[in-house]
Amino acid sequence: MSALTLQVLRDEGQAFTEDLSREGYLAHSGQKPSAEFQPIYDRYKRVLGREALEFTVDLFKSEVPGSEEHRRARLLLEWQLESQASQSLAGLDEREIAWESSAVIQTSEGRQVQYQAAAIAIANEKDRDQRILLDEARAKLIEAEHAPMRLERLQREKEYIESVDVASGYNETFDAITGMSLKALAAECAAFLRDTQSMWDDTLPAHLRRSLGITRAQATRADALALLRASEYDAAFPGSTLQASVARQLTEMGLDAGANGRIIYDIGDRPGKRSRAFCAPTRVPQEVYLVLRPHGGQNDYTTLLHETGHALHFANVREDLPFEYRWLGDNSVTESYAMLFDHRMKDKGWLLRYTELNKNNIDAFLRLSGFEELHYLRRYCGKLLYEVEAYGDNTDWRSLPDCYVETLTRATTFQYRTADAFVDFDPRYYCTRYLRAWQLQSLLNESLVSRFDIDWFRNPAAGPWMIEELWSEGQRETAEEIATRISSGGSAMSFAPLIRNIENLLAT
Ligand SMILES: [Zn+2]
Repeated sequence: MSALTLQVLRDEGQAFTEDLSREGYLAHSGQKPSAEFQPIYDRYKRVLGREALEFTVDLFKSEVPGSEEHRRARLLLEWQLESQASQSLAGLDEREIAWESSAVIQTSEGRQVQYQAAAIAIANEKDRDQRILLDEARAKLIEAEHAPMRLERLQREKEYIESVDVASGYNETFDAITGMSLKALAAECAAFLRDTQSMWDDTLPAHLRRSLGITRAQATRADALALLRASEYDAAFPGSTLQASVARQLTEMGLDAGANGRIIYDIGDRPGKRSRAFCAPTRVPQEVYLVLRPHGGQNDYTTLLHETGHALHFANVREDLPFEYRWLGDNSVTESYAMLFDHRMKDKGWLLRYTELNKNNIDAFLRLSGFEELHYLRRYCGKLLYEVEAYGDNTDWRSLPDCYVETLTRATTFQYRTADAFVDFDPRYYCTRYLRAWQLQSLLNESLVSRFDIDWFRNPAAGPWMIEELWSEGQRETAEEIATRISSGGSAMSFAPLIRNIENLLAT
């Protein structure tokens, strides 16, 4: 076997990443009953062994911060840590996916629902007693079977990261490799929760009363699913025109929804398909799958727009970029493109043009979407604060379910359940990517408005500009670098424009 070089790391790293992504796509879309990750890890031992890790750590430590070489080494090291940790957890992941795709919840009255479809069934259940029964059955099954698997995975991943000598602890390693500051972001989240508390208190009761006929003291997370499902607007968001509406908008902004065959849409119901939509690039930029399991109504429009943003990004990356810039990097960037598109669901001009909303119900819908935005931002701020606590140095994992319920319930008012403490937990701080993407998408929107006007989404020059200026670069740049590059006056990312936008929506 030849010596490990940067080129070998890239070539084999890419082949490994492609194989892994394809296996995940097949299993999560319900086309395979389980995933077989371990044979893939075995095939690529050379880029997943000690030598590869040491090679990458050395590269990271020897390159000059600020240089292109250092940027590349940082991306490769983050990928190495993630892949090496996942390698030792592949058996756990396989077991979890097989469990998820076959598990069934059963209520005390004998009603059965596939575990994967539980969130859909709860959101669609109009009878509150039935909704609570379903949620109780879901929580019982999670507590007994799913939560222990997740807890083991989280603990083992943390132990692995701490065993690699990059920085002193889990959180410090995250900061060192991503260039983010968890402390600073957590402080921003705490401030956001404080700054929006009175707005939240003023807004929530009316929505609970009007949509569900319940009080603040009664509201649970299962009620939140039903409230945000907003089935009263289903007629405005028909499933039959979902894909065509989004494709029409893309055509109007000078884009092809299928990116000349590079994006493959998998939108239909299939047993074993995850309820959470996802975008799986299997070759970047040539082959990108967009997978969605319809829930019905407005959520499907939001989700399709979101995943479309990811798919367009991956399918338009320059082919000649190296592996690390096409496949790796700061996922806040791809999430910001996804959110830029899903935020059209809060854009009056977009809604009137591409949905069946009309002048009689658009204002009420916009107020609901302001409420929804505030809810999700508060939920994600709560999630980050909880996860920082969970990954802290002296945390006793047994105390986390109570900490989870307290933190998330305080942030959202909806009563959370201890059973979800390790399931509603994205490893490796993925919630930081969403939070920063939220901030970046509002700057991207401002920039598009100043360049292409308020209805940039139907300006035929806007799509080609996005390919050229944003998507073709992959994730070479960090979210901050993109914010500085595209915003006039180099605005920094913050929650301030999001709060202004929510205030405007609520005052519609
Ligand atoms: Zn996303």
